[in-house]
Amino acid sequence: MPFCGGDRLREAYRRAQAERFAFMANNVAEPNILIGLLEASTEARSDLLVQISPGAAKFAGGGDKRAGLRGLSALIRELAAPYPICVFINLDHFTRGEMELIEEAIEDRLVSSIMIDASQEAFEENIRLSRAVAEAAAGTGILIEAELGKIKGVEDEISSDEALYTDPDEAVEFVERTAADLLAISVGTQHGVSKGRDLELRVDLAAKIRDRLAAAGLDAPLVLHGTSGLLPEQVQEMIGYGICKLNKDTHYQYVYGRTATEFFAEHATDILPPEGVEDDVGNLFARGDWSPNKKAFDPRAVGAEIQARVREIAHALIEQAGSSGKTLWEAREDQQ
Ligand SMILES: [Zn+2]
Repeated sequence: MPFCGGDRLREAYRRAQAERFAFMANNVAEPNILIGLLEASTEARSDLLVQISPGAAKFAGGGDKRAGLRGLSALIRELAAPYPICVFINLDHFTRGEMELIEEAIEDRLVSSIMIDASQEAFEENIRLSRAVAEAAAGTGILIEAELGKIKGVEDEISSDEALYTDPDEAVEFVERTAADLLAISVGTQHGVSKGRDLELRVDLAAKIRDRLAAAGLDAPLVLHGTSGLLPEQVQEMIGYGICKLNKDTHYQYVYGRTATEFFAEHATDILPPEGVEDDVGNLFARGDWSPNKKAFDPRAVGAEIQARVREIAHALIEQAGSSGKTLWEAREDQQ
């Protein structure tokens, strides 16, 4: 059963720290991106970290976050089962409004790790909320990621007009007092679409935070959000400074939209009625001579294209993160 819990994920991050690589943390809200990621990760012999945001849970649940979260978690675990890699599930940007869901995810072991995002709150309140989640997860193995500093841009239901860089001294106090396992830092990356060259990226700050934590005897892996606009060389630099988790959402969303746009443009005449034909969607054109082509409009047709394209892009991103060939999974008999 390749869905792996927090204990295995902790081991994966330790290895990433020791061998200087990172994991791409990929958001999913439906099966196509997930399947592309599973295929690419297995081919690359990389473990896979997928994340569910509150917005994705709400979407997948038809407006019901709880149903969506349980449904997506079950889908990921079931689809992951035959793949010979470790597949981890993280909750992405869960906030104070989702405390009940967080507790349920811990109780029912739906995930491997949870990000509690209270970075919009004042420092003390951020500590209080992050610590509460760390305490709720204590003894379960589930890892807790907390964030200090604000990341510019809009992610899901969280938005921030300005970037607020993480203060290295506050970072030490924050990790000590929250007992968070992972620390998400703000060093100038942005959520959403951004250009690598335009970012006021402060790579030095990641190094400073890592050093300050190490001096205090803390080894929490660092997490970077909003990495879709980073250039490969910037990613490399950040990994060198102790970043072990790179969040990727926007990039795959673009790949999804781009692939669908090209596919439907190519097949437009198979789907749209030609001029002079009555637009009779209600009766699926049963009255006339013209019929749309099922091979073009079946969602599985475009879905297969999206899966293939995600698979291709994921290979490049896994290479960038350096996690290829690093899977903890071994085909031991007790794991088959
Ligand atoms: Zn984020």
